Amino acid sequence: MVTVIERILEKKNIFIFLILLLVSFTYIIYLNLNIIELNNNIKSKDNLYKIQINNRINEIDQLNSQLTDLHQLLNIGLDLSNKNNIYLNTRINEEDKKFILNSIPSAPPLRKVFITSEFGFRLHPIFRKEKLHTGVDLRAKIGTEVYSTANGVILEARNIDNGGYGKMVRIIHNHGFETLYAHLDDIYVNPGDIIKKGTLIGLTGNTGRSNGPHLHYEVKYIKKYLNPTDFLYWNRKTFDTIFSKNQETIHWKDLIFLMKNDIK
Ligand SMILES: [Zn+2]
Repeated sequence: MVTVIERILEKKNIFIFLILLLVSFTYIIYLNLNIIELNNNIKSKDNLYKIQINNRINEIDQLNSQLTDLHQLLNIGLDLSNKNNIYLNTRINEEDKKFILNSIPSAPPLRKVFITSEFGFRLHPIFRKEKLHTGVDLRAKIGTEVYSTANGVILEARNIDNGGYGKMVRIIHNHGFETLYAHLDDIYVNPGDIIKKGTLIGLTGNTGRSNGPHLHYEVKYIKKYLNPTDFLYWNRKTFDTIFSKNQETIHWKDLIFLMKNDIK
């Protein structure tokens, strides 16, 4: 009796085992199919991304070539062949020149210019010591009209003589420039006044530490003294001459590029 039951059980076991095997096998096939489908999905997504990336690269290439075109159109570039002679590849139209010359100190502050003392190190006439002359001295009898050399804002208008510069006017211009007019006799402007290039700001004199009537004229750029002579004779005709000067201090290329963009 026992053996009969055992046999039946044995057969039943085999049957269950076969069923399990079949189910497992089916499940494995099902999983494999899923994996294949997933793989296909990944491949098609991968291709899609590749296409999108390629499209973006093409767009960037196009933008790059448009930028190059723009640079050529604006015609501004550095001459890298001579590092010490950076100049602007200028094709600046007359309107742009006018704007630039109105913004940066240019032209003389007096109607007639005669330099009596240059910018640079010199034996100081009063101190009898080698000293930096921070501006140029222009011959002017007392009462000669003084004009601003660029558009700007009056930073300082000292109408009292307390030594040094004496009565003086200091003007802030755009883009980091500053001018100073010293030893004046009279002043016609006040701090905060917005003035145009060529505005009458005062009269020359002999105030402060001065050994005779004259105008002491300074040009500064980001607090550094520049040789004003370069700017005294800067005008439309001599427009390009300035770009080979003060290169260490003034990044002419970027500055002019900025100003050309400003007026558009
Ligand atoms: Zn001086």
